[in-house]
Amino acid sequence: MNKTIYLDHAATTAARPEVVEAMLPYFTEKYGNPSSIYDMGAKNKGVITQARETIADSLGTTPENIYFTAGGTESDNWALIATVEGYAGKGNHIITSSIEHHAVLHTCQYLEKRGFEVTYVDVDENGILRLDQLKAAIRPTTILISVMFANNEIGTIQPIKEIGEIAHEHGILFHTDAVQAYCQLPINVDEYHIDMLSASAHKLNGPKGIGFLYIRKGVKIRSFIHGGAQERKRRAGTENVPGIIGFSKAVEIAQATMKERTEKELALRERLISRIYKEVPYVRLNGDHWNRLPNNVNFSFQFIEGESLLIMLDMAGICASSGSACTSGSLDPSHVLLAIGLPHEIAHGSLRLTLGEDNTEEEIDYVVDKIKEIVEHLRGMSPLYEDFIKKNK
Ligand SMILES: *Cc1c(COP(=O)(O)O)cnc(C)c1O
Repeated sequence: MNKTIYLDHAATTAARPEVVEAMLPYFTEKYGNPSSIYDMGAKNKGVITQARETIADSLGTTPENIYFTAGGTESDNWALIATVEGYAGKGNHIITSSIEHHAVLHTCQYLEKRGFEVTYVDVDENGILRLDQLKAAIRPTTILISVMFANNEIGTIQPIKEIGEIAHEHGILFHTDAVQAYCQLPINVDEYHIDMLSASAHKLNGPKGIGFLYIRKGVKIRSFIHGGAQERKRRAGTENVPGIIGFSKAVEIAQATMKERTEKELALRERLISRIYKEVPYVRLNGDHWNRLPNNVNFSFQFIEGESLLIMLDMAGICASSGSACTSGSLDPSHVLLAIGLPHEIAHGSLRLTLGEDNTEEEIDYVVDKIKEIVEHLRGMSPLYEDFIKKNK
């Protein structure tokens, strides 16, 4: 194969041609500021309202609860920092999980420096939040629970409805980082008892630099970006009109195609898993096999370095990842893989492959052949593997 095979959809995705086409006029002839009095700008207000409706519909809510931001990271920062500031009179305690994205984890660390207390609840060996630990962590001073909908590294889907119920039984606000789950899984914010939800367009074939935070009516959340009166005075800054249009187009398509996309990705995922299990020894699948995003596969290959595997896959035209894109390049193993109990040396040999709807069976077969070849080659150069084989003869 001489074209690139892209298997890193959890890191980012290509904007669809329909998305780019919908955005283009808003860079050129329809560039007016939505806050203007004249028609060329003011018309864009209506266009934004429509986009907000499309997105609100996808979550079973109403448009006034959707606030556009510059992406998932900003939404997570806003949800955490501005809520705990707003509820500081009630308490100073936050509960989250040990496997959150850094946009949540590093924000929690920042809040700890500012005097807030954070409990990081463990997950089990499959990456599922320990609900008994969550319940035990609740204090009279707990003001916020933040648990991601689905994990970006191992794809595990959390029991969000149960977590939301627990939060609400105790009068605690519930935020979820749904950047990986949004438009991959059906989500209804009322049914799941979600008070705040973060999402980002570039993970679902939309443009980069645009996201939203869903905020349930009545949640006291301070404004985070100060300035003009945009987003009902809660998020200042001239609206990213092309981004908003592109985001809503991507959501419209992703919602309409969710079922067939899921079926296709599931079939490819299971083909990938079963062939690797059958053809490559000393491998484990990280994360719950079934309770996971349809497009996520995460393996650990014993006796190899994930980085070397990635470089050789790249030379074969395959884009993959060893964990989250933000941690690759550092030598620390992923905090998620350590949290599910993997020893350092096993965590180091991990590979994340995340599928998209354009991937084909033929590509998957090529990728499995390459993985098999590269893993054999790398093990052939490993003194540890040599020792292991000698001992087990
Ligand atoms: C990608 C990602 C983010 C960050 O979103 P950006 O739009 O890139 O800022 C946050 N959380 C999760 C789970 C992600 O996968």
